[in-house]
Amino acid sequence: MQPDDFDSPSLSRQIDQLADQCVKCGLCLPHCPTYQAELTENESPRGRIALLQALANGQLEAAPRLRAHIDHCLLCRRCERVCPSGVEYGRLFDLGQQLLEQNRRPARAVRLGLALVTRPAWLRTLARLIVLSQRSGLAELGRRLGPGRGPVLLRRGLSLPRLPWPRSLASHYPATSQKRGRVALFTGCVSAAVDSRTLSDTIAVLRYFGFEVSVPAAQQCCGALHAHGGQHAQAEQLATLNRGAFAGDFEAIIVTASGCASQLLEAALPVPVRDAVSFIAEQPWPDSLRIRAGDETVAVHEPCSAQNVLRSSGDIYPLLAHIPGLQVMPLGDNTTCCGAAGSYLLRYPAFADQLRANKLASIKDQPPDRIVTTNIGCALHLQSGLVEQHNFIPVIHPLTLLREYIEAPT
Ligand code: SF4
Ligand code: SF4
Repeated sequence: MQPDDFDSPSLSRQIDQLADQCVKCGLCLPHCPTYQAELTENESPRGRIALLQALANGQLEAAPRLRAHIDHCLLCRRCERVCPSGVEYGRLFDLGQQLLEQNRRPARAVRLGLALVTRPAWLRTLARLIVLSQRSGLAELGRRLGPGRGPVLLRRGLSLPRLPWPRSLASHYPATSQKRGRVALFTGCVSAAVDSRTLSDTIAVLRYFGFEVSVPAAQQCCGALHAHGGQHAQAEQLATLNRGAFAGDFEAIIVTASGCASQLLEAALPVPVRDAVSFIAEQPWPDSLRIRAGDETVAVHEPCSAQNVLRSSGDIYPLLAHIPGLQVMPLGDNTTCCGAAGSYLLRYPAFADQLRANKLASIKDQPPDRIVTTNIGCALHLQSGLVEQHNFIPVIHPLTLLREYIEAPT
């Protein structure tokens, strides 16, 4: 296929220009999980950049093997973090997927994922069915009868940790201490359906810190799955709707999932997008807020989105240092992706599970009491891996942990 067949010369030109930033030094190679696994150039960042440039210039066709090398990328963006030339790999990847997707339909599992994230009612119904199957013992039975068998979506569903019943949020919450400002909360499609606890704990912490919290009803999915899957028009449509939903007198849009925050930064929203942990960590501690002492060890999983895109993963440590006596340590192998990576865990389950196993092996000798992470996808993936090992270490959001230790003002 020649570039003209794509009918998008400007897309090809952008890819070519971005790829030209790469000086082919190879310094990113040892940091790339797929290169480490395969040790072949085409599975490296430098190789993928060269493949996309050749595709954009018409030197290569969009053959299945080329597509496979691009699709194998976790989009962890570790390569971007370590690149001395400042290659914008994430942007290049999204444009490359856009070029590739012009002539193919996404895989069935991906199509289903894309449909679900833009239909919150469907997601909530699915979450309720999962909760019912877990509470009735059906999920456990399914796990025992068919371990490792059946479609990947079913296997992933059966291995999910126990989920809370989805709860709706109010549209407005007043501050519970002296008012400092007003923020809007981004709920996220998956978080709203399966992680209402993180959202309500984040609202509670923001209120303790003096913030009034609004939850705009018209907000939509962040569009990350669409953007990374080459569905640019749909991602832009969601961004437009979110620009309207969050237009208001807010100091910040607070996001609990670092993956969503990374995508929302691209959406040109009318108010600054802030990771919830970073936002709270930079606030002066309110005089009225008392905190209990801790007596446990907590391991911090730093999601790729927080490390390599938001560059905010370090903010968790000073925040948790407010809890006296709490032992906090980074989860082992923290600079490597856990394998969740958006829809990656559905598309490449074996490699996603291998990456997770490596990470969980790091806590075998010194298991923490709990694990905290700021990304819902990582939390579910890690917790499922622990459940499969009959290991019941909880994986929670850092603000859930903080809220537990805060003594509610009387
Ligand atoms: S992406 Fe950056 S680190 Fe990797 S080969 Fe290119 S210039 Fe070097
Ligand atoms: S984003 Fe991650 S998996 Fe993809 S090329 Fe870069 S380092 Fe490798």
